[in-house]
Amino acid sequence: MFKPKKKLGQCFLIDKNFVNKAVESANLTKDDIVLEIGLGKGILTEELAKHAKKVYVIEIDKSLESYANKLKENYNNIEIIWNDALKVDLNTLDFNKVIANLPYQISSPITFKLIKKGFDLAVLMYQYEFAKRMVAKEGTKDYGRLSVAVQSRADVEFITKVPPTAFHPKPKIHSALIKIKLNKNKYQIENEIFFDNFLRAVFQHRNKSVRKALIDSSKELGYSKEEMKKILIKFSEKEKIGSLIENKVFKLSVGEFVFLSNELYRFLHLHDDK
Ligand code: SAM
Repeated sequence: MFKPKKKLGQCFLIDKNFVNKAVESANLTKDDIVLEIGLGKGILTEELAKHAKKVYVIEIDKSLESYANKLKENYNNIEIIWNDALKVDLNTLDFNKVIANLPYQISSPITFKLIKKGFDLAVLMYQYEFAKRMVAKEGTKDYGRLSVAVQSRADVEFITKVPPTAFHPKPKIHSALIKIKLNKNKYQIENEIFFDNFLRAVFQHRNKSVRKALIDSSKELGYSKEEMKKILIKFSEKEKIGSLIENKVFKLSVGEFVFLSNELYRFLHLHDDK
């Protein structure tokens, strides 16, 4: 008997309805090459193998090998990569869709790694609270750095909430399926690294004004508080900026964050005399 390992997030799907829901939501065809993160006992992998041309599965736990071997007896389009998904160079894999019941402890880093690599469509299972943060709109309590970082690069859609009874062992928390369509042309982010630093800085103080948040987290952008205060006095003289930076951080839309970050990035590079 296989004993699931909690620290690897081993809650396996047992309710086929949600397996089918994930596969249907991804509109799989025999042209698709799919990446799955986490084989488990292979319940999702088997459905993917039936519908797609090829399935890559990254699984960290080699003690699940007997399940992999059984699957491979019946399907010749499955390739297992025994490794930590965070360590695999995804550029070596030619997938166009990602479908996975993710190990929740790596939700955030794996999502950003996938977005950076690029794909057409992903259907992913997350912890419910995390999923709500991914799709949250400005002004709501779930809206945060994750919401803006994801929605500025992709269209995200909440598919369905999934109860603990859909898994074994039964987790204490609810889960949710999310659909992600990459849309890198949605906004033009001038400098990705600066944008992520900008978001990290301001969302440390989501209830403060953008101006106050930037001053209090000035170190994240490489400035002292005094330097940032002076920068923002000049910066706010620019058209549209003055009123925008007096808004509370959590009330700014995704588009407004991109606009502000781009403007500040350009401004700092024009006036980089500190
Ligand atoms: N797909 C299966 C299912 O739906 O039943 C398993 C899902 S289970 C939530 C997550 C799986 O990811 C486990 O099999 C676990 O061993 C694996 N896993 C955990 N951390 C991982 C990592 N860093 N890289 C790759 N796989 C990982």
